[in-house]
Amino acid sequence: MSGRHEKEKGVNVQVLLRCRPFSEEELKNNAPQVVTCNEYQREVAVSQSIAGKHIDRVFTFDKVFGPSAQQRDLYEQAVVPIVNEVLEGFNCTIFAYGQTGTGKTYTMEGECKRSKLCSMRQSGPNGELPPEAGVIPRAVQQIFDTLESQNAEYSVKVTFLELYNEEITDLLAPDEISRAAVEDKQKKQLPLMEDGKGGVLVRGLEEEIVTSASEIFTLLERGSAKRRTAETLLNKQSSRSHSLFSITIHIKEATPEGEELIKCGKLNLVDLAGSENISRSGAREGRAREAGEINKSLLTLGRVINALVEHLGHIPYRDSKLTRLLRDSLGGRTKTCIIATVSPAVHCLEETLSTLDYAHRAK
Ligand code: ADP
Ligand code: MG
Repeated sequence: MSGRHEKEKGVNVQVLLRCRPFSEEELKNNAPQVVTCNEYQREVAVSQSIAGKHIDRVFTFDKVFGPSAQQRDLYEQAVVPIVNEVLEGFNCTIFAYGQTGTGKTYTMEGECKRSKLCSMRQSGPNGELPPEAGVIPRAVQQIFDTLESQNAEYSVKVTFLELYNEEITDLLAPDEISRAAVEDKQKKQLPLMEDGKGGVLVRGLEEEIVTSASEIFTLLERGSAKRRTAETLLNKQSSRSHSLFSITIHIKEATPEGEELIKCGKLNLVDLAGSENISRSGAREGRAREAGEINKSLLTLGRVINALVEHLGHIPYRDSKLTRLLRDSLGGRTKTCIIATVSPAVHCLEETLSTLDYAHRAK
């Protein structure tokens, strides 16, 4: 298989597929199921027969998580090794990619009934997270558990930003959330600049130094609340924005020879804009571009990942803000994981096929 062959050549892009369970609404309407997952074979089958027209396709991924897979299963099987790499001093990125409503935010953040993020802070008697906690809180927990158990000095910094129409907003900036403040902020987009060392920096972005997992949970909650409020106040669609949560870790270790060794690793956790924003724009690109509907970052990310997987000479990092921001964490000695999310129901069929095609191309 080409995927395996490429991996031997050293490309570290892992593609997982997660299919969410039926929603209550879909169950109530007896929505027909068109997606079947075979976790053991790592296969996803899509089939439908309507009016003599048959669709029957099977896709293979690095891992497949069906509707009954728990947050913890996905984390332990797919994310633990990535966080271990970060703790060894490498940069890694995890993306959630898929149609709006298929579980990107559920997978990355998790949720509980009362508020989106409260689950992160409701840890159990032994400090374990609740079952609904997603990748971000679990990664934060794993990082601090490991750092606290080691006998080394360390520091941890986080940033949390949103990218909407190629403009960057800081989700951690400690300003008030009012219409005027949000609009003002919107006018003062944070500029992305070259740092002169081959990297980029976002001028004015808050970098919070944190000393415990619960401090990060508070920041995350604040950032997510800000994202939702700004969305409502400015009538923008969350489905068109990306959020990027980054954790940078510095670990100072002493070698047996008494020398000092500094390891620096970064983990980027990205909740991407809804993939319907690119698949739909394809057919009517001219009009969509005029309306500012084309999601440049989402399109460019696809091209960058293709170029990495296909070993093309030119990787078009510079073509979008998202890929510029992630340049030091995509390609080279890094690990990338794409979690593609789909719905099992027939009414999502077209988008499901386009997500599966996109994700499969990234392998
Ligand atoms: P997206 O971020 O892709 O738009 P959400 O994460 O908001 O989608 O998920 C849409 C709805 O589906 C939410 O109510 C969420 O709780 C539910 N959901 C998504 N994935 C799962 C899952 N794996 N298990 C249970 N519920 C899920
Ligand atoms: Mg979402």
